[in-house]
Amino acid sequence: MIALPEAHVFTRVRHRLVPRQLQVRRVVDLTPKMRRITLSGADLAGFTSPSPDDHVKLFFPLPGEDRPRMPDFSGEPMSLPEGTAAKTMISPARDYTPRRYDPRSGELDIEFVLHGEGPAAIWAAQAKAGQWIGVGGPRGSTIAPNDFDSYVLAGDETALPSIARRLEELPAKANVIVVAEVANADEQQPLPVNTIVYWLHRNGAAPGDLLERAMRTLELPDGDCYVWLACESRRAMVIRDHLTEQRGHPPEWVKAVGYWKE
Ligand SMILES: Cc1cc2nc3c(=O)[nH]c(=O)nc-3n(C[C@H](O)[C@H](O)[C@H](O)COP(=O)(O)OP(=O)(O)OC[C@H]3O[C@@H](n4cnc5c(N)ncnc54)[C@H](O)[C@@H]3O)c2cc1C
Repeated sequence: MIALPEAHVFTRVRHRLVPRQLQVRRVVDLTPKMRRITLSGADLAGFTSPSPDDHVKLFFPLPGEDRPRMPDFSGEPMSLPEGTAAKTMISPARDYTPRRYDPRSGELDIEFVLHGEGPAAIWAAQAKAGQWIGVGGPRGSTIAPNDFDSYVLAGDETALPSIARRLEELPAKANVIVVAEVANADEQQPLPVNTIVYWLHRNGAAPGDLLERAMRTLELPDGDCYVWLACESRRAMVIRDHLTEQRGHPPEWVKAVGYWKE
């Protein structure tokens, strides 16, 4: 008897944590509230990001400082430099998706939602070529298989870098539905034409309201379907519970992640 290959195998990979100090090479506005910042520098050598939902920790220089202060990654898991008394010695850090890494040009793209408050959004709003930023990670990757019958990719603006990257990396014949909640029609981004995309425009509604409603009514395609979702944390859990507990979708085929906290 011939053993059939196992279906839907997720691969987990750990990476060596490397502290990198990179410089802004370019700033491009994709929409009024989504800014792509291209980073480069010698430290980028050896960068790796095998999964579209990987994340790096970005370290933003404190006001009045040129360079970010980064932890000493030689300890486990992210230890402070020896003699550091307080966590405040480390620059503020936030998680972001490596949207594109090109080893030939030595460029890493990060796409920032300009939501207005917080070290990351404030830094991104003023970013200029030549400025320094710290990058740690990815620490690990979970690579979802390409053998599902279909994929539902859902989320708000913060999920779009990962969704757009996954659309580029999935096989062209993959059956994909995207459900994306954005502030308004100006925030829509071009996505591949062979994808079904439902754009939801908040137009002042509470973040996640439209997304939750759409996911509650979305008919999942027949066959084995992988659902990936990222949005405000509490909402992500509500939608995950709806899909797995109320609709009985296999929990191992649903990845719902809180990308920010209201
Ligand atoms: C794995 C992972 C990958 C991520 N990838 C990306 C990415 O590629 N691009 C991206 O833009 N974000 C991404 N995020 C989300 C990002 O890390 C958060 O939005 C983060 O809080 C931004 O930090 P901040 O310093 O701007 O604001 P914070 O200091 O964290 O928060 C300040 C205030 O802003 C509010 N806030 C934070 N984020 C948002 C938001 N998106 N919309 C509205 N209000 C907000 C908070 O509720 C708080 O009141 C990712 C998060 C995770 C966990």
